[in-house]
Amino acid sequence: MSLFQNTLKQIEKASRAMRLSDDAKEIISAPERMLEVSIPVRMDNGKIKVFQGFRVQHSTLRGPAKGGVRFHYETDMEEVKALATWMSIKCSVVNIPLGGGKGGITCNPKELSPAELERLTRGFVEAISPIIGPDKDVPAPDVNTNPQIMAWFADEFSKLKGVNQLGVVTGKPIEVGGSLGRGQATAQGGVYVLNKYCETEEIDQKKLKVIIQGFGNAGNNAAQILKAQGFEIVGVSDSKGGIYSESGLNVDEIMKIKNETGSVQNTPNVEKCTNEELIEKNCDILILAALENQVHKDNANNIKAKIILELANGPITPEADEILCEKGVEVIPDILANAGGVTVSYFEMVQNAMNYYWTEEEVQAKLKTIMEQSLEDVLREKNRCKCDMRTGAFISAIARIEKALSLRGRI
Ligand code: NAD
Repeated sequence: MSLFQNTLKQIEKASRAMRLSDDAKEIISAPERMLEVSIPVRMDNGKIKVFQGFRVQHSTLRGPAKGGVRFHYETDMEEVKALATWMSIKCSVVNIPLGGGKGGITCNPKELSPAELERLTRGFVEAISPIIGPDKDVPAPDVNTNPQIMAWFADEFSKLKGVNQLGVVTGKPIEVGGSLGRGQATAQGGVYVLNKYCETEEIDQKKLKVIIQGFGNAGNNAAQILKAQGFEIVGVSDSKGGIYSESGLNVDEIMKIKNETGSVQNTPNVEKCTNEELIEKNCDILILAALENQVHKDNANNIKAKIILELANGPITPEADEILCEKGVEVIPDILANAGGVTVSYFEMVQNAMNYYWTEEEVQAKLKTIMEQSLEDVLREKNRCKCDMRTGAFISAIARIEKALSLRGRI
């Protein structure tokens, strides 16, 4: 089953629980616009190589499409369609005035030189430029893309338009229109939700043991923030594999080793394991911060954590969701847990439009308010419809989209 089919299943489940009209479901289940492009890039060896790129705008109903760009060798249109759909839902979960989009290029960025990566990025911008812009569709970083790539992105688009258009993309470096707090926003937003959830459920957060799959932007920042709060990080992993220590890991040391050697697995004096083994180990909280479909019907029963925080998009399949629900594992779903990223991206858009910039404290205060309010909205729907938290989040979001469809006269 493709990732997009998984997304449709989630929409179907929420639609039944909230008795959504068929007309609204029909519209929400189909992305508005899908663009596939070929990007010719002059490689360092002098030869041209053509890469495939994608941009999907799932919805521009509540505002410009918004969503990241992923550089990954497995990226394809089906994946990008699913991710774009989740973005519309996510922006609605946190009630920010944006729609949903996503993009990607099928490539392995680890095999590209910095100059090739820059030419690929600029080629992608040129290819999708007719459909993007600060009022139309605003990309951002995702897997294997970063602030430097966003700076090239904004520069190329500005050159094409002959006018400074830094607001075409978010997640930029601070020096060229980025927002304070954007780098850590995905993890920080997830932690605000986790803290509030534990508070609501009267769970003592001191010394809770945490395993984090994925040690990139989302996972690495989550490790640092939680460690500083007194949580015990007992396991982490990256694409090469995982490490585990029942008595707790030294997050600063692991970050240094990851930066110097390329993998957390080079950390001395800790147990080494595969990614599959890591997520089944003992812990209170499992944070999934890598890629999709990591927990599936064959391993869901082996998960020991009592709470899962989905910082990645779609890390649990619908079948695994059912199993986890029966086991009593509380899943804080991606469309809420990782929405801090798009929320601070929205703040970046607002600051770009005003050309006036906020302090870190202002950003954090606004982010915390939105994340906590969104959790409250989701829990209210969960309790009202007697469903899991993911379905509650879908209901909270789809109700706002349905209202917008109705007010705009589309249904
Ligand atoms: P990233 O490229 O910075 O990091 C990804 C990490 O996952 C790397 O450490 C990589 O080694 C690891 N990884 C890759 N394959 C793995 C595997 N099979 N098992 C374990 N680890 C693996 O990406 P990121 O921005 O941190 O994104 C991670 C997830 O979070 C994605 O699902 C992304 O869509 C989601 N997300 C990111 C943001 C954001 O602002 N960056 C916002 C919302 C959601």
